[in-house]
Amino acid sequence: MISVEKAHRQIEEWQPKPAKEEVEWDRARDRIVAEDILAPFGLPRFTNSAMDGFALRWAETVGASRQQPVTLSLDGVIAAGESSGQLLQPGNCAQIMTGAPLPDGADSVVMVEHTNGFGADPVQIFHPAKLGQNVRQAGEEVAENDKLLSAGTRLGPGEMGTLLGFGMARIPVYKKPVVALLVTGSELKPVGTELRPGQIYNTNLPVLADILQRVGCELTEGRSLPDDPQQIADQLAVSLENAHIVVTSGGVSMGRFDLLRPALNDLGVQEIFWKVAQKPGSPLFFGVRDKTLIFGLPGNPVSAIIVFMEYVWPVIQKMQGITPQPKLQAVLSETFPRLAQKHRFLFGRAWIEGHRLMVQPTQKHGSHMFTSALQANCILDASPGEGSLPKGREVRINPLPWASLAGPDPQLFHTGAA
Ligand code: AMP
Ligand code: MG
Repeated sequence: MISVEKAHRQIEEWQPKPAKEEVEWDRARDRIVAEDILAPFGLPRFTNSAMDGFALRWAETVGASRQQPVTLSLDGVIAAGESSGQLLQPGNCAQIMTGAPLPDGADSVVMVEHTNGFGADPVQIFHPAKLGQNVRQAGEEVAENDKLLSAGTRLGPGEMGTLLGFGMARIPVYKKPVVALLVTGSELKPVGTELRPGQIYNTNLPVLADILQRVGCELTEGRSLPDDPQQIADQLAVSLENAHIVVTSGGVSMGRFDLLRPALNDLGVQEIFWKVAQKPGSPLFFGVRDKTLIFGLPGNPVSAIIVFMEYVWPVIQKMQGITPQPKLQAVLSETFPRLAQKHRFLFGRAWIEGHRLMVQPTQKHGSHMFTSALQANCILDASPGEGSLPKGREVRINPLPWASLAGPDPQLFHTGAA
């Protein structure tokens, strides 16, 4: 049995490096940019109007007012998407729409509301213009070769819109790790089927598949297998070939039908560790074959998800160039049942109170009690030590990436109500 810290160190030694690829823009959403991206041209790309109005020379409008308008001849209409192509002659103006290129010779735009309108020729200008008024200058927002995004940035809508504004059709991103998920247990039935006595519904398969997708994996296989040595061996052989990471659930404890370790051993997987001094999740298995990592999670649903978030989630993040978020410190609103010999993890609910981050551990402590995850927004953890951590002491928390700190009344969580 090794410590949690040692388990992390050993996994770190096998941490795969992120790999790059270039993808079409419509596959890049939410992915992580693998290189700094520079502006291929300045923005705006061309000097254009910020208003619907008239392009003109500001110097010709000096002193204009409603009583004494300046009169200019109309020379054409420039719509967005067009370009006038010819020099605006002195004494002339051109109708111009928002986003349309400013004609050569013009230096300002007077909004249509300050004129006698688009139906008029000659045009009367009621307000003097200032140099560059209502004009978006080429390059004023971004200069050519300015850094738009740094490597490691996630491509949200703002980032996507920026890159697409530069016409970038292919984007360098980190590859999504390919993960195979194998869930074992002869007692497991998919939802939508009838349970016979002794059977239970398979929750780890859908829950872990969901979490794997949230962290940004490509799930090659999501399979449920009975506790049958041949079927387990056959499927593992395929998954070890296809995936960067194989995640299994169940079958790594001391039971007669815990078949994962021998099967992995037969397939040439090197065991790096088995069993960690932690609760829940002590039978965690970690092994490698070539460059493939194998995480054998215990089958108990609370153990499976907590162990996944503690060990597997950060590995998958780093493979995509993401730096995992550090854990936070929060003040216990209730006693945390620290253990003398084992690292203790529990679901909990954290919230901000004044300037303090508070946290309440779930009241359900069994590793089979998946309802302890209801309304949880973090996982609390404490290293082994004598005695419980009392109310008011600080404890580490790892916020669940899909939950938020603000949320329903933590009181609900306290009473365990759904
Ligand atoms: P195991 O790690 O295979 O010994 O399983 C430990 C406990 O977790 C047993 O009570 C199993 O029935 C339960 N369990 C295992 N796999 C799943 C699963 N995929 N969904 C729900 N419960 C499971
Ligand atoms: Mg089992």
